[in-house]
Amino acid sequence: MKFGFDIDDTLIDLRAHAFDLYNKKLGKNVGIEAFHALQRVEIHEPFGLSDAEGSVMWNSSLEDIYFTDCPIFEGALETLQALQQEGHDIYYITSRPKQYCEKTREWMIAQGFPVTEGHFFCGMQDHEKVATIKSLALDVYVDDKPAVLETLQDVETEVILKNQSYNQHVPLARLYHWHGFLDMINE
Ligand SMILES: [Mg+2]
Repeated sequence: MKFGFDIDDTLIDLRAHAFDLYNKKLGKNVGIEAFHALQRVEIHEPFGLSDAEGSVMWNSSLEDIYFTDCPIFEGALETLQALQQEGHDIYYITSRPKQYCEKTREWMIAQGFPVTEGHFFCGMQDHEKVATIKSLALDVYVDDKPAVLETLQDVETEVILKNQSYNQHVPLARLYHWHGFLDMINE
C-alpha cells in the first residue's frame, strides 16, 4: 500500500516544541495547559502577541523550530519503520517553505524515518497538497491541519486525522496515538 504523511504536528510535536522555544526566547513561563487549550494552529496568543507579531516571531524562529530537537510523537517512528519493513511505500508531503526542504529531508533521515528517493514532497501550499495526494494515488494519508483536510473531501485516499486541539470539528477518522495506527488501517 501507499502511505502518505504530513510531518509537522502529525509525526512530530512541532507546535509544542515551538511553544517551549517561545518561552525561552521571550523569557516567559507560559504553562503547557495554555498550549493544549489553543483552538487554532498558531501558538502566539498565550504570549500576548498580536497576529502580526506572532507571524514575525514564527518566521524568524523557523530555523530553530525545525532543526533543533523537536520531539517525535511516541510510536510514530516505529510505526513508519514497521510499514517500510512490511514492504509498503511511504511518502512525505509537507508544506514547509522551499528553502527548508532539503534540510528537512536530511533531518528526517537523521531521526531514523524511512525516506526513499523521490518520496519526499515539500514546499507546496496547504491547498496544493491535494494534487500530490491524487497524483500519487495514495491509499492512506495522515494530516492534522483543517485547511488541508478540507481539500481532501473528494479523494479516494483514506484520510486520517491526527488528533489536535484545533481540529476537533473535523469529521474524519481520528488518530489519537501512533501506537493505534496499524490497528486503524487494518480494520
Ligand atoms: Mg501538519
